[in-house]
Amino acid sequence: MRKLVLALLMLLSGTAFAQNLPYRWDELTASDWDQALKKSNRTCILPIGILEKHGPHAPIGSDLIHVREWSARAAQQEYAVVFPDFFYGQVYEAQHQPGTFALPSDVVWNLLNATVEEIARNGFDKIVIVNGHGGNPQLLRYFVQAQLEKPKDYVVYFFEPTQDREFADKVAKTRKTDAAGDLHAGENETSTMLYLRPELVKQDRATREKGDNLKRLPELPNLYTGIWWYASYPNHYAGEGAKASKELGKLITENKVEALVKSLKAVKADSKTLELQKEYFEKVEDLGKK
Ligand SMILES: [Zn+2]
Repeated sequence: MRKLVLALLMLLSGTAFAQNLPYRWDELTASDWDQALKKSNRTCILPIGILEKHGPHAPIGSDLIHVREWSARAAQQEYAVVFPDFFYGQVYEAQHQPGTFALPSDVVWNLLNATVEEIARNGFDKIVIVNGHGGNPQLLRYFVQAQLEKPKDYVVYFFEPTQDREFADKVAKTRKTDAAGDLHAGENETSTMLYLRPELVKQDRATREKGDNLKRLPELPNLYTGIWWYASYPNHYAGEGAKASKELGKLITENKVEALVKSLKAVKADSKTLELQKEYFEKVEDLGKK
């Protein structure tokens, strides 16, 4: 009987232990590490935000707050370890605005690379980048592609959710402004901030500046330049934050979290990507040896 009680107690404390296992890297203890690796199936989320102006009304760290919240909410549903705040990326087009933190490009690249390597060195072989900043995708896609430069025993995944038709219709019915011009600190982003951190949004200031496309460049057919964003949106503001609503913010946030949970489940179950990556590097190594 005593043995049975003891076994039951151990089982109960084990469950409690598992439930209380923090998902944040910085909140785990070293003695919890192995369990976190196991429970996450060696999956770590790297949320990437940025520090930049978000209109006259929303916080500088809006993108960081977004990815932090999406990752936290997703990890609570589908356990993964979440790397702490990371807010280094491509943001050169906003250096004329207060609060922008734009490191040299080689530092950004090396920091990202070293961060991923350090995450892997600590036992994770699946690293999921969750990005919240519109200026980052080109950098991150190239970074993910560059993972094939040299052999690696881990995989970097880039979470890039696409909207399904049904959800897009729901959003279209809820929003008040044209989605085409709602690109930065406008109705969309202000709504999600209003939902997640309303105390940080000074919505009454949203009309102090205009977020219209000024179209200051001449027509340059099929040509891309780095100044295009500044040319269109010199206030680094695109959209109308004043039209934001908590309702829209909830809708967008829940959809994003749901998509991330789905991706995390797939990543945790995935062994094929790493297997093929290894096979690829073996072929690269073997080239010319036969
Ligand atoms: Zn943003």
